[in-house]
Formats: sequence, C-alpha cells, structure tokens
Amino acid sequence: MRTSPNVIVTGTPGVGKTVHCEQLAQETGLRHLSINQVAKDRGCYETYDHELQTWVVDEDKLLDAIEDEVIQGGYLIDWHACDLFPRSWIDLVVVLRCSSTSVLYDRLATRGYNQTKLQENLDAEIFGVLLEEAREAFDEEVVVELDSEKDGDVESNCARISSWVASWKESRADDTD
Ligand code: ADP
Repeated sequence: MRTSPNVIVTGTPGVGKTVHCEQLAQETGLRHLSINQVAKDRGCYETYDHELQTWVVDEDKLLDAIEDEVIQGGYLIDWHACDLFPRSWIDLVVVLRCSSTSVLYDRLATRGYNQTKLQENLDAEIFGVLLEEAREAFDEEVVVELDSEKDGDVESNCARISSWVASWKESRADDTD
C-alpha cells in the first residue's frame, strides 16, 4: 500500500505544470516526474511529428519504464496527457487551466512554437480537452480543475494541493494504526 500519494499535474502545454510541480516538490517532498524528461532519458519515443514539432511517445514503453517506481507512491506526474496512467496508480488528478487565451498565447509564443502547434494548443485549452480526458479516465472525485493565470494562482493552488497531500497521508496513517 502506498504511504504517499501519486498526483498527476496535467493541462495544455504552457498552463504551468512545471512551475507547480517544482514548487509542490519543495512543499510536499513528493518527487517531480517530468514525463518529457523520462521519455527522453529512457528512449520512449516512437516517431517525430514534424508538423506539430513534437515527439510521439510509446506509451507502453513509458509505463514499463516508470511502473516500479510509481507504484511505490510519492510522485508528481507532470504531463500533457493523463488517460494512459492506470487508475490504480493515481490518487489525484490536477488539471491546470488558463482561461485567458492571450496569456497562454504569449507563454507559448516565447517557446518558439510554429503556428500549427500554437493553434492546436490554444484550441485544446479553449475546448477543455485535457479536463474532458481526465473526467473520462478517472472518477469524478479524483479530478480537480485549478486556474493558473496569475502568479498568485501558483501559490494558492500549491497550498491547496499540499494540504490535500497532508490529509491523504494522515488518513492513510490512521488506517494503518
Ligand atoms: P507547462 O509545464 O505546463 O508547459 P510551465 O510551468 O513551463 O508550463 O509554464 C509556462 C510559462 O508560464 C513559464 O514561464 C511560467 O513561469 C509561466 N506561468 C505558468 N503558470 C503561471 C501562473 N499561474 N502565473 C504566472 N506565470 C505562470
């Protein structure tokens, strides 16, 4: 049984997954697992999509690569998809949102994304694709939608998630007493 929870932090590229995970790792002691980094380090890429300027991940290979660690618990899983992870691995799914298209546009433009990739990501955010995906893949009570537009949002979201992590741990400790 896990003594520390696994939390997915997901959302459209640019919503703030990395900044949230970095801060949360400090606040909670959970480990930041950047799936981009894992896929790169462990060779889990399948092909390169030239139009979207992105690598396509081999999901089976990726899950095999992280399974032994993740099932122990204590991870902040940072990725722009969530429905590939088995439900039994996951305790909370945080979907970050940026409701201001211009704010998200500016964040993505500074990354040098081409027009196709920019538009694809902005559309995904406007239509709430990631939230929908999370709600389809996980139980309703496991999925939380949080706004990430201003600096203050990072603080308040992290405070909220940290306190959720603390109560999750307490309730598990009570169960094992
Ligand atoms: P992701 O990991 O989801 O692609 P990042 O965490 O890299 O996104 O954030 C993209 C950029 O937007 C970074 O420069 C980050 O500092 C900024 N950013 C993200 N969320 C916020 C926020 N709530 N307020 C202000 N800036 C933010």
